[in-house]
Amino acid sequence: MADDCLFCKMAKGEIKPDLLYEDDHVLAFKDINPQAPVHFLVIPRQHISTLNDLDDSHAELIGRMYLAAKKIAKEQGIAEGGYRSLINCNAEAGQSVWHVHLHVLGGRTMAWPPG
Ligand code: AMP
Ligand code: ZN
Repeated sequence: MADDCLFCKMAKGEIKPDLLYEDDHVLAFKDINPQAPVHFLVIPRQHISTLNDLDDSHAELIGRMYLAAKKIAKEQGIAEGGYRSLINCNAEAGQSVWHVHLHVLGGRTMAWPPG
């Protein structure tokens, strides 16, 4: 837990997100500023600032994030049509919350390359 971390506060239940899924390891909630008809975030309960801070001890946790994303994508009806999943790392990628989070976006056609 990092004291001033918004997503840690969500993981602890101090701030209530629009929750889609939670288990002992990860939680998922709707993005407050959606960039697609479906846009949710999957986060680890454990505070990890950026992808650069991962080590081998996080391997299973990252897998759990993707397994949650897959399950929720199906529930949200975007699994067959397709969806984008990504993690922004540091400033040039546009990271603005310093607690690792997996974006999942769907419900519209995605452009490539991303902006
Ligand atoms: P990033 O720019 O990759 O760090 O993504 C941070 C994401 O968190 C953005 O898409 C924000 O819209 C989202 N966000 C920020 N505050 C909240 C919140 N209180 N509830 C849900 N999503 C949030
Ligand atoms: Zn945190």
